[in-house]
Amino acid sequence: MKRTDHNGTLRAGDAGRTVTLIGWVAKRRNFGSLVFIDLRDRSGICQIVFDETVSDAVKDVRSEYILQVTGEVRVRKDPNPKLPTGEIEVAAKEVNIINTAETSPITIADDSDTSEDIRLKYRYLDLRRKPLQDNLILRHRIQMIVRRVLDEEGFIEVSTPILARSTPEGARDYLVPSRIYNGRFWALPQSPQIYKQLLMISGMERYFQIARCFRDEDLRADRQPEFTQIDIEMSFVEEDDVFAVVEKLMRSIFREIRKTELPEFARLSWDECMKKYGTDKPDLRFGNTIHDLTDLFRNTEFQVFRSVIDAGGEIDAVHFAGIADQYSRKAIDKLQEFLKAGFRAKALAYLKLENGVLSGSIAKPLSEAEKAAVISHFDMHDNDIVFLIADTPQIARAALGALRIRVAHEQDLIDRSQDRFLWVTDFPMFEYSEEENRWVAAHHPFTAPKEEDVDKLFTDPEHCSSRAYDLVLNGYELLSGSIRIHDQDLQEKVFEAIGLTMEQAKQKFGFFLEAFRYGTPPHGGVGIGLERLTMVLAGTENIRDVVAFPTTNSSLDLMTESPNYVDDAQLEVLGIEVSEDNKKQA
Ligand code: ASP
Repeated sequence: MKRTDHNGTLRAGDAGRTVTLIGWVAKRRNFGSLVFIDLRDRSGICQIVFDETVSDAVKDVRSEYILQVTGEVRVRKDPNPKLPTGEIEVAAKEVNIINTAETSPITIADDSDTSEDIRLKYRYLDLRRKPLQDNLILRHRIQMIVRRVLDEEGFIEVSTPILARSTPEGARDYLVPSRIYNGRFWALPQSPQIYKQLLMISGMERYFQIARCFRDEDLRADRQPEFTQIDIEMSFVEEDDVFAVVEKLMRSIFREIRKTELPEFARLSWDECMKKYGTDKPDLRFGNTIHDLTDLFRNTEFQVFRSVIDAGGEIDAVHFAGIADQYSRKAIDKLQEFLKAGFRAKALAYLKLENGVLSGSIAKPLSEAEKAAVISHFDMHDNDIVFLIADTPQIARAALGALRIRVAHEQDLIDRSQDRFLWVTDFPMFEYSEEENRWVAAHHPFTAPKEEDVDKLFTDPEHCSSRAYDLVLNGYELLSGSIRIHDQDLQEKVFEAIGLTMEQAKQKFGFFLEAFRYGTPPHGGVGIGLERLTMVLAGTENIRDVVAFPTTNSSLDLMTESPNYVDDAQLEVLGIEVSEDNKKQA
């Protein structure tokens, strides 16, 4: 089907040319004998004018019809500065109606007012909207940069199975029943973790894959059952080598897409990070870090602080300059409720400086010397406020970390012109699962412990650090990864530490343990969340905006109505019976 140009590309310099365009009718307006149609294709919109010689041919044309139009480009008398093609229009000479369309069930406009559920049901129409098309194009461009940069760095893209063996990334597996071997199941990969490590044993040295991962997690607003990882693995490396590749990749992406040079990537150990920010994914686009003031109050006579300190707790504080007048008693009560409900903090104390004098919930019980010490610690000025929490270190830090973010949002303290990356290193090796009543791998069980902590695997699992790291961008966890174990004995020990007996380990990962015996190189890698990265670059907080055919928050595909029931015959060959309760009700 012939076209000479794309609709969004015509400019004043094209005036006088005869062009043929194809596209969907975005808008139609009648002015007496003149008809104006905005014709849309992927590249954008062009205004077409049909005068009395051709307007008859489009008299029945409605929104979303597809037209092929030939005409002359001319400069508009009244340019539209909002459209890239706003300087010109095309005076139609010939028109061919390629297809008709029924009335669209959704409003196809940049800011559609149709509810998200209806837009998801008609996703193919929703995808005609420019913001969504732009996001898919952005995602494509990121993928192209990833492929180019990693190729330049000597990485080989290898596809690993989708019908796979379960890998432990901490979520539930999606299972696929085998027809040929009734009673047996494939698992969809939670990540290509085991395969990519096996590729290192194979001698591939540098692997990557834009990999689909599947995790059957409980419903959460920002999750999709399937997502995409830029999955990377490298042999003969330490943390710095992995970081260098990822930083190079991010710099290229941000240079090409955002046209910015990224500042230096910050680094913090997990311990330091939790102390300073109360979270392992802090947003560094604003300061207001947590300060441990326990020493300052070491000899306090203020009973509340005294008893917390005596019990081994901490007095932590966050300082904000120039916003004390924004926090009335009522506003502070609200903060306190928020911290109590979500972060188990019993009480939130505060101190404000006004006319050189400290007031606030604990101004009375503190001594003059203590108050002077707080003022000087934070170099406080009038209208500054300090929030304090006395509690166990975990609770105090987590609560102040949450308060830090909330106040920054409320007071608009975030510098959105920046992108701030942070490597968080030395994550704990294990976390305690109350549900399972045992220590589980905090990252995954192939992560190497810090060399100096190997002897804590069994004696002090809580304080055993690992060689796992995250990269955080503007408060989002963008990737996780680790240096892996490459020694069979150590791998067996780690399995044992998370409560797998040798027999269970062999049954689950026997092939993997065996592979370790044949010359396993030291290796490590990362899995970068492609959707997260695209979301940040697209400036959206809705993951569905960067996925072509997403599911709802409750894991339903409203367009294809999946998951769905299947025929009894299909189940029978799989050797599966569905209980009466779960059968489709007639
Ligand atoms: N497989 C890990 C994950 O999906 C990433 C990695 O360790 O490379 O989180």
